[in-house]
Amino acid sequence: MNYIVLDLEWNQCPTGKSEEIRRLPFEIIEIGAVKLDKNLQYVDSFREIVQPVVYRTLHFKTQEIVALRQIDLQKARNFPEVISDFLGWCGDDPSFCTWGPSDLMELQRNLAYHQLPIPFPFPFLYYDIQKIFSIVYEDRRTRRSLEFAVDFLKIPKDVAFHSALSDAHYTSEIMQHLTRTQIEQNSSVDYFHTPDNRRSEIHLRYATYTKYISKPFVSKVQAMKDRIVVSMPCCTCGKNAVKEIRWFASGSRNYLCLAKCADHGWLKGKIRLRQREDEKYYAVKTLRFVNEEEVIKISERKKAQQSKAHHPSS
Ligand SMILES: [Zn+2]
Repeated sequence: MNYIVLDLEWNQCPTGKSEEIRRLPFEIIEIGAVKLDKNLQYVDSFREIVQPVVYRTLHFKTQEIVALRQIDLQKARNFPEVISDFLGWCGDDPSFCTWGPSDLMELQRNLAYHQLPIPFPFPFLYYDIQKIFSIVYEDRRTRRSLEFAVDFLKIPKDVAFHSALSDAHYTSEIMQHLTRTQIEQNSSVDYFHTPDNRRSEIHLRYATYTKYISKPFVSKVQAMKDRIVVSMPCCTCGKNAVKEIRWFASGSRNYLCLAKCADHGWLKGKIRLRQREDEKYYAVKTLRFVNEEEVIKISERKKAQQSKAHHPSS
């Protein structure tokens, strides 16, 4: 097994969103990657520029960020050739690591656009080092820039940021300030390909929480009526916990629920409904145990939500 620390640079429609191709909002123009062995030691690196065929001129934002010249892009090989070499270089059993959740999503969108097979397992688990940095060194929630983490860990800044290979190198050096356990216990699930039916729904168990990803639903209302989506199985014994506060909307994106397992205590449920490319909805539900203090917080949120509902103008 190798860790493949991947960083992509991409271009977007130079004439603005209205003219972009919906299936390919971001076209990959550079692939950088570092291979680490299972002990997080450096093995090899990969870097190649990719010739854009959809958005041939660089968007002004891309020009500002990426140190690539138009002339280098025109001389580069095309995506199918480069990606084939890259995937070969990754080896048989790669564990992908990225800074943030976007790179593997855009990689798969580019593969799909070029009608190339997507060679990843289902569910596709990867390691979001930006998230793991937050879990290990900060508060789990905050998402920092790569440069912030490099400064935080006092890693020497010997090359410029925002080139695919240098960013992959920096990410791999941040990984060397983590243990393998810290990385492996905090995998993320890729959302490019989500479950198509009940049988392929994803149930994952982590050290401190469980995660469930549902099949698609035609509407948010349908999703929140589904028996499995709204169930609250205890993270320890799996028995359905008794709901003390039923699911309620909290903010514009989340639903919360509070339940109690007679044997294992208070469980907080959170559902986020996300939209697929086909515009259907799927639910991502996380369940974790909470203490009395958090129980009170959830009750207060529920009350705040109720008073908002009764006094919509205030
Ligand atoms: Zn239980």
